[in-house]
Amino acid sequence: MKSELFYKYPKTLLNKGTGFLTDYSHSLNPYTGCSFACSYCYVRQMPVSTFRKKEWGTWVDIKKEAAALLRKELYKAKAKGKVTIFMSSSTDPYQPVEYKEEVTRSLLEVMVENPPDFLFVQTRSPLVRRDIDLLLLLKDKVRVSMTVETDREDIRKHFTPDAPPISARLKTLQLLAEAGVPTQATIAPMLPSSEAFPDKLVQLVNRVCLDDYFMGDGSGGKRTRSLGIQALYEKLGLETWYHPSAYHLVYDRLIKVFPENQVYLSQKGFAP
Ligand code: SF4
Repeated sequence: MKSELFYKYPKTLLNKGTGFLTDYSHSLNPYTGCSFACSYCYVRQMPVSTFRKKEWGTWVDIKKEAAALLRKELYKAKAKGKVTIFMSSSTDPYQPVEYKEEVTRSLLEVMVENPPDFLFVQTRSPLVRRDIDLLLLLKDKVRVSMTVETDREDIRKHFTPDAPPISARLKTLQLLAEAGVPTQATIAPMLPSSEAFPDKLVQLVNRVCLDDYFMGDGSGGKRTRSLGIQALYEKLGLETWYHPSAYHLVYDRLIKVFPENQVYLSQKGFAP
């Protein structure tokens, strides 16, 4: 889906870490809106989306002059105490338009100049590999968390047809790890996957986060239910995967190949 693009001049960039992100002092969204338009995205129902009165996924605001603003805000925030940043909470920082606009890259440049205590980069885009040079400069103060909800491309196409293919995300994890950037694979929200999924991951990462709608949507699964996601599972005859205890299956498979202390559940897997 092609999103309509808008340029905006934000007044603030760093927001206080709240709710699921209470472990962070701040969240940082280089864009508003998201071209990936995942069916299960609960941001669809949040004010940022509902006030817009346009379907989630059809528009993206590009934040102009973001680097200059972050430079000021970061300086002030660091003067007050520890700064830990989650990028991003309600968009993907590597939107397709980031290839051209380089907003996220400009923010990383600012963070290399004046590093926060920790930066967590949450994405599902292979474009993050473009910024390996900057990520390496942040050393152990950064972790790139790549969303890989499943290893099954047919399932990915069913739930998030506009998001990058799984193979490109796995390849990116490999490149990041080979370069020496701290990484993790994030199975969130967990989608139906094959038995071989953990074996594929263990070759690429040493740390995994597993989360589902029931633990991770901030409402015990209510937000996701109102998006009508269950019907997508029913259509595929995979209803057993849409259940608060379904994650046990994947968790048990993971701990057969990963050390148990490297498999994190829900919020713990996103903590600094
Ligand atoms: S990538 Fe993230 S923010 Fe974007 S639509 Fe998907 S879940 Fe929502």
